[in-house]
Amino acid sequence: QAKRLGGNQWRVYTPEMRSATVEQLNLESSLRKAIFRDEFIVHYQPKVSLASGRITGMEALVRWQHPTMGLLHPSRFIPLAEETGLISVITERVLAQATRQVRQWQDAGLGRLRVAVNIPPQQLHKGDLIDVLQQALHDSGLAASQLEVELTETSLMEEPEVAIEVFRQIRAMGMTIALDDFGTGYSSLSQLRRFPLDTLKIDQAFVRDIGHCTEDGAIVRAIITMAHQLGMTVVAEGVETAEHLEFLTHERCDYVQGYHISRPVPAEQMEAMLRAQQATMASPAAKAH
Ligand code: C2E
Ligand code: MG
Ligand code: MG
Ligand code: MG
Repeated sequence: QAKRLGGNQWRVYTPEMRSATVEQLNLESSLRKAIFRDEFIVHYQPKVSLASGRITGMEALVRWQHPTMGLLHPSRFIPLAEETGLISVITERVLAQATRQVRQWQDAGLGRLRVAVNIPPQQLHKGDLIDVLQQALHDSGLAASQLEVELTETSLMEEPEVAIEVFRQIRAMGMTIALDDFGTGYSSLSQLRRFPLDTLKIDQAFVRDIGHCTEDGAIVRAIITMAHQLGMTVVAEGVETAEHLEFLTHERCDYVQGYHISRPVPAEQMEAMLRAQQATMASPAAKAH
């Protein structure tokens, strides 16, 4: 059976494809329900500054608290959310939750923290990203300088002129921009010079084999050096071992994020970490330094 798609495009459906489609429809309708019932929650993964050894910010990572399937990670629903356009509602929810949360922590005396939120490529080209960001800042009372936008190379490569213009506006508002998963796409650092970026996040694929694989160590070292020469801050993702941490400290990476420090955790656990950090800073022993 061929289905007319409009124009002269035809697509042939096989029985396997049909069942996949039914599954997708189920997921799509439960995704719509999830938005209605507000089942999305934000987990936080700390970013540690290697200069101070302290948690100075965190990345907001969405989870779906599904009524029967439990806690679902983004890989289970973000692709479908992107396909169906539901991603923009999810992005707004994550932005609202994360900015409010970080402002609350600040009001509770836990520090002036920065939060990074993942923005999908479509959102960048939809035209309302600036308004959405402005709204989140306005509603939460968070300062623009405390919000970082994480984008992947995909966002830059389609319609780069549009991307550059949106980036300029984001920075004019006082927010910063991080390029996520760097090294997995096709862009080179020389191409990146065209984009106003503040931060480069080295993909965990390169960090993983530091120490075991000399090439990956060399790649990470080169990325850090070049990013610094271009005036960018570097975050290493997927820091899983003391060995990774030691290498990155030695190579003057700026921030680290990974299971070695903490997995992404619910807000209450993130808050407990911040309180523990606060306690060590306030103690007489720490003050003596
Ligand atoms: P990402 O932005 O690159 O986020 C980092 C991912 O690496 C997270 O997976 C995190 O849990 C995982 N990770 C962190 N440290 C380690 C480590 O030491 N080892 C390993 N193996 N993994 C580590 P997560 O939370 O499953 O998110 C996956 C991706 O989903 C994210 O990649 C991001 O692209 C996307 N995503 C997450 N939250 C959102 C969101 O709110 N909106 C959108 N559009 N995408 C999101
Ligand atoms: Mg990210
Ligand atoms: Mg990443
Ligand atoms: Mg990723």
